[in-house]
Amino acid sequence: MIDEALDLFLGSSCVGCSRPGRMLCARCRGELPSRAEQAWPTPTPEGLVTPWATASYDGAVRELVVGHKDRGQWSHRRALGGLLAAAVGAAAADLDPAVPLLLVPAPSRRGAGRRRGYEPTAAIVGAAARLLRTGRPVGVADLLLSRGPVEDQAGLGAQQRGDNVRGSMHCPSPALARVRRRWPVAHLLVCDDVLTTGATAREAQRALEAVGLAPVAIAAVAATRRRVGLGPGPLRG
Ligand SMILES: [Zn+2]
Repeated sequence: MIDEALDLFLGSSCVGCSRPGRMLCARCRGELPSRAEQAWPTPTPEGLVTPWATASYDGAVRELVVGHKDRGQWSHRRALGGLLAAAVGAAAADLDPAVPLLLVPAPSRRGAGRRRGYEPTAAIVGAAARLLRTGRPVGVADLLLSRGPVEDQAGLGAQQRGDNVRGSMHCPSPALARVRRRWPVAHLLVCDDVLTTGATAREAQRALEAVGLAPVAIAAVAATRRRVGLGPGPLRG
């Protein structure tokens, strides 16, 4: 509520239709997709577990993601959390509902939020978990850390993105011990905002597998549409 009051106070407009008022008006919010689909990147990183995404990364969804990550529009975490919750729900549809879901955020690399002590991806994952908890036990585990700075992925092709992030994440032992105590049995899902080449997701999966954890799927708010023949677009991931 405070976020919305601030939005109104600051004279904002909708990221979808530019109408003055809320940063996401009721109509545009209602038009956000609610059903996730498998979103295999082309080419697919070898061994990637099934990736799910709810939206395509364009239009209002792109504005929400960028605003949330880079412009301090943190109230968008709820709409983005709803999209992520749909992806997690689809990914978990065939899993035993008695086994808790454990959502592992991909570590944020950059963005205004990160610099101000706000973890954009973790905030979206937290919002998704709150929505999902009505039906089954759902936890969030900050198991992954980035080792030092990784170059911005924007403008890199699939191969370069893979090289750029490989070996960049790790799972600190104290976090792992805490999670093992609290969630001895759980289905792990790697969660991220945007799935582009799958390089970031694959690295998160690798880092978890390196400590004996096996994620069952990747869940993302949105996936880029790869256009064959046009090369990588102005995307991040
Ligand atoms: Zn609107």
